[in-house]
Amino acid sequence: MKETFTGSFTQQEPIPDTAIAAAVEVMKTGRLHRYNLVDDQEGEVSALEREFAAYTGATYCLAVASGGYALATALRAVGVKPGDKVLTNAFTLAPVPGSIASVGAVPVFVGVTEQLTIDLEDLAAKADQADVLMLSHMRGHLCDMDRLAGICHAKGITVIEDCAHTMGAAWRGIPSGRFGALAAYSTQTYKHMNSGEGGLLIGDDPVVMARATMLSGSYMLYTRHGAAPEAEVFEQVKYATPNVSGRMDHLRAAILRPQLADLATQCARWNERYQTVETGLRDTPGLTVVERPPEETFVGSSIQFLLLDWPEAKIDHVLSRCLARGVELKWFGGAEPSGFTSRYDSWRYAPSDPMPKSDRVLRSIIDMRLPLTFSLDDCALIARIIRDEVSTVFQSG
Ligand SMILES: *Cc1c(COP(=O)(O)O)cnc(C)c1O
Repeated sequence: MKETFTGSFTQQEPIPDTAIAAAVEVMKTGRLHRYNLVDDQEGEVSALEREFAAYTGATYCLAVASGGYALATALRAVGVKPGDKVLTNAFTLAPVPGSIASVGAVPVFVGVTEQLTIDLEDLAAKADQADVLMLSHMRGHLCDMDRLAGICHAKGITVIEDCAHTMGAAWRGIPSGRFGALAAYSTQTYKHMNSGEGGLLIGDDPVVMARATMLSGSYMLYTRHGAAPEAEVFEQVKYATPNVSGRMDHLRAAILRPQLADLATQCARWNERYQTVETGLRDTPGLTVVERPPEETFVGSSIQFLLLDWPEAKIDHVLSRCLARGVELKWFGGAEPSGFTSRYDSWRYAPSDPMPKSDRVLRSIIDMRLPLTFSLDDCALIARIIRDEVSTVFQSG
């Protein structure tokens, strides 16, 4: 009898009891809108902004409706205009080029390496095409942030970090999100804190963050924020910045604050699961483990491996054989977008020249979520199943 796995790759842990209790308190008041406060009450959203700013070390933090909304707001706040080009990763999730398109700008895709990070040589080659880089730390992989900062600094490129998968991660001990002018996080269910939907934007520039706050729909109530610039700064932007409504509400913030307090523990639990799967996959014939650089502190909420130069039919075979044994793998390289996966050439509103080196990598990327509901035994079993099926298909004629 072959072993099979019976867990669910989409099953998250329940919301912690303390978070549920906080949410119930908010609901009892009926005051869910972030500016619906009593006297000088701080409110959950404002408190979350203050706490997340402190957590990352940023001066300012703004809570918004989603990670994608935070990305688009960041682009607007730094002054990206319709028709402008914006550099971004070829390997990323659809909301990233989508946020660029949402402000009428044009994505210029930069290639991906076998480490699943942005190809810095390709970035240097394309650096003259745009003033802004939206750097997506896709699936939690951090590139050499020192080299990246060097390239962008030399070319005067403003960096916006997409930290949807790097909340809790760091490069040389510096939190992910502290290299760019702005950084966006997601608190959507599949990320590192779960409020269903939600986003956070951090930055140090008072004018840019005042603009972002106005954009998010603050009206003239911006003094009720927990980590926003001084009221004087808003005088410079308040008449010139449109309200592109996308606020967070108290209910979500109430759910997130206890999760933020517990984030370090959760990240350590993800990494135990990641290490267990990675150890189990090492030295599988035909399978390339993605090596993580020593400077990188990552959060292993998902794991990727490569089936480099495999014919598509064999990759399909591995996926279906693993699925038959309960292991749900996602293939980012599939020619047709499916589920949450898609390729830069499937975003046809943003045509790109082909990138053969990146295409070879993209075609090979297999991805798997590691929800915290999996035990370490589950993770070891999953790795045994993948190892078995990859070896079998690899060795078949
Ligand atoms: C999830 C995700 C986003 C968007 O976040 P939402 O909150 O779902 O809008 C952006 N970038 C990456 C890499 C993501 O995984």
